[in-house]
Amino acid sequence: MHALLIEDDQMIAEGVVTALRQEGFAADWVSDGVAATEALRGRHFDVVLLDLGLPKRDGLDILRELRGRKDATPVIVVTARDEVRERVAGLNAGADDYLVKPFDLDELIARTRSLLRRSAGRSVPVMEHGGVRLDPVTRAVWNRDLPVVLSAKEFAVLEALLQKPGAVLSRQRLEDRIYGWDDQIGSNAVEVYIHALRRKLGSGFIRTLRGVGYCIPLEP
Ligand code: CA
Repeated sequence: MHALLIEDDQMIAEGVVTALRQEGFAADWVSDGVAATEALRGRHFDVVLLDLGLPKRDGLDILRELRGRKDATPVIVVTARDEVRERVAGLNAGADDYLVKPFDLDELIARTRSLLRRSAGRSVPVMEHGGVRLDPVTRAVWNRDLPVVLSAKEFAVLEALLQKPGAVLSRQRLEDRIYGWDDQIGSNAVEVYIHALRRKLGSGFIRTLRGVGYCIPLEP
């Protein structure tokens, strides 16, 4: 899962980015409203953490533009304690949740996960399909009750595909989900991870649709 943090306080930003990465997210950070707008136009994120008081362009403005072009990317608004009106305005402008500063990093991660579940239409944290189970919180995977050891990127690919079995994700979309801006992307990296996942979970578990992308078939 790829998170974008929009925050002008460097201390907060470094803490959040570190925590997200420790929890297996690809996480990127921009510190002003103009850079945020460019980032959001440039690629797909699974979740956005948005501070409202930003240099160059207000967070509410950024959110309104995003929703104005029917972009449904989940957004958590982050504001200071006394800014109730701002939080309300954020929710009314299309934010999905909010967090009050100063916040606990564990709560931020938990809310982010909960929002990702809701936006995927799931209420149960553990993802399960075709005998494969994945727990995003403990980062454990089982294949027919046997534990499976995955690399961080293999896990990220599997998590993205398990969000919605039957849905096809292009290679580009998978790359967007698993890599941050600073990651080196090998030219056939996604194929390599898919290959490893098939070896560990069964050759039919992930289907390739030539020229389109990958999916976990609803019927094996
Ligand atoms: Ca701020």
